[in-house]
Amino acid sequence: MKENKTLKRMWKIIKPEMKSIIIISILATIISIIEIVKPYLIKVAIDDYLSLGIYQKGIITISIIGGVYIALVIIGNIIDFIVKTATSMLGENVIYSLRNRLYKYIQYANITFHDKTPAGKLFVRITNDVEDISTLFKDVLTTLVKDILMIIAILSIMLILNVKLALISFLIIPLIIIFSTYLTKLLNKKQEYSKSVKTRLNTFLAESIYGIKLIKIFNRQYEKQKECEQWTKKFWESRIPTGIIEGFLPGIMLILEKLGISIIVWTCVNQWFNVNLQVGVIYMFITYIQRLFDPINRLIDNFETLQESVVSIDKIFEILEKKDYLEDLETGKILDNVKGKIEFKNVWFAYEKDNWILKNVSFTIEPGQSVALVGKTGSGKTTITNLINRFYEIQKGEILLDGVNIKEINIRSLRKNIGIILQDPFIFARSIKDNVMLNENLSDEDVEEALQLSSAEDFINSLPAGIESVADERGNSYSAGQKQLLAFARIFAHNPSIFVLDEATANIDTHTEELIQKSIDKISSNKTSIFIAHRLSTIVNVDKIIVLNQGEIVEQGNHNELLNSGGYYSKLYQAYYNSLTA
Ligand code: ATP
Ligand code: MG
Repeated sequence: MKENKTLKRMWKIIKPEMKSIIIISILATIISIIEIVKPYLIKVAIDDYLSLGIYQKGIITISIIGGVYIALVIIGNIIDFIVKTATSMLGENVIYSLRNRLYKYIQYANITFHDKTPAGKLFVRITNDVEDISTLFKDVLTTLVKDILMIIAILSIMLILNVKLALISFLIIPLIIIFSTYLTKLLNKKQEYSKSVKTRLNTFLAESIYGIKLIKIFNRQYEKQKECEQWTKKFWESRIPTGIIEGFLPGIMLILEKLGISIIVWTCVNQWFNVNLQVGVIYMFITYIQRLFDPINRLIDNFETLQESVVSIDKIFEILEKKDYLEDLETGKILDNVKGKIEFKNVWFAYEKDNWILKNVSFTIEPGQSVALVGKTGSGKTTITNLINRFYEIQKGEILLDGVNIKEINIRSLRKNIGIILQDPFIFARSIKDNVMLNENLSDEDVEEALQLSSAEDFINSLPAGIESVADERGNSYSAGQKQLLAFARIFAHNPSIFVLDEATANIDTHTEELIQKSIDKISSNKTSIFIAHRLSTIVNVDKIIVLNQGEIVEQGNHNELLNSGGYYSKLYQAYYNSLTA
């Protein structure tokens, strides 16, 4: 059952490359035929002319044989060049298409998938695993037919030339198989272990570079350096057996090869089993027994590679085949002229089964209204914004935009109309311009206007290259406030109908706060706006405050109403006020 599935998966990757695989196999087979014919030509020259001492008579034939031999060497090398180039192209094709398929999946998979799948795992899939599979094409599939044919051809010719000597020479084959299988298996086991140590070493390295500030804050450089030494030592140790086996294997094979040749020579010299052969035939035997080693070793090695690739194929397809994580971005109603009315009707939501995060939440936001979501940490504020743009599907109830259930709306169209500023704005390591445009076709003027509206202009102009300045990774060289201003610029540039601000708890200096407040006022003046505010002073003027406690709405109303009613909000506000005056 499982094998069947894996075979199907393999076929899916192999099928588009079938043509190249067949052509490469045919060309490789031609090379093998040439390799088999070459010793025969020499045998003819030796037995029919040289050993008879009649080379003066046969000078023309010998020249022709020599000419053909050289021609075969040249043709063989040309075909070999073509095969090598085509094989590596084939491997690259597979990497290219699998990598793009995986990236596409990652882009289109929903947030639940990303919650469950660690980024590190995805990186390994899209880099190492994809490359492991390409070796299946580069090394295995393209040599398989050729090697099997080569072995059959060599064995048959040897049998035809002399059955007895052939059978005696074949004694060496089980030895090749036993040693090669054992050592290859051992090598793979050691390599597998070394790979796992390397993955852990890489994770350690990435994490300590990521967390360098924390390491410095707690003065842990020395300890981290020691930890690193331990990991690199472990990796070093894991590489030793591999090196030994890799050095050992060719030696063993060389000994076996010489053993094979000795058996042939002994048998012929002593005329054991009545073997009495011409010199040229003995030469052929010796050459063929040597040629037998490569394909046998390769087949055994390839069998191991195949098993490894199968593991990678399964890992990758386990991701690609999970279609239920994919978002449908094509079907559904396309919205135009969104007014911005949002309704939650008895919404129940859980990230994980039955662990209700939102319980029977109902509220309405009229077009153009500004609303604030208030509540303690973990009360479900960010969750509500995640639901409005369908990052997650709700279990019960419905969410409506302009009276239409958002499940019926095309996701692209829905998200185009909702601009969210995340709690921690993300900045790509691209230019400021790219960060504002986000792959949409906007002119420089549009970008500059957006930056001006968001009051990010001054800070951008102070950068050496203006809007062409390239940000550091995750915008590390900008302050929290500056990143937020850039996030506002994105909203102005893309002009959604609904605006959501998930405010960061981080403190922002008064000047930047003023700039941000100016942006908020500008945006919310003509849009439906939802604010998640930790600093309650910023929301006293909104039309409506929705107060959440442990996933339930406990109160709704404007600031004064809620304050006068003396409920949960008034206590929250009192606590906030006290913290300010303290
Ligand atoms: P804060 O003020 O700290 O931002 P919040 O009100 O925005 O808090 P949410 O982020 O909505 O809180 O989280 C509400 C609850 O949902 C929390 O208990 C949290 O542990 C849980 N939660 C949030 N995101 C996920 C997730 N992706 N998977 C599972 N549980 C989650
Ligand atoms: Mg939050």
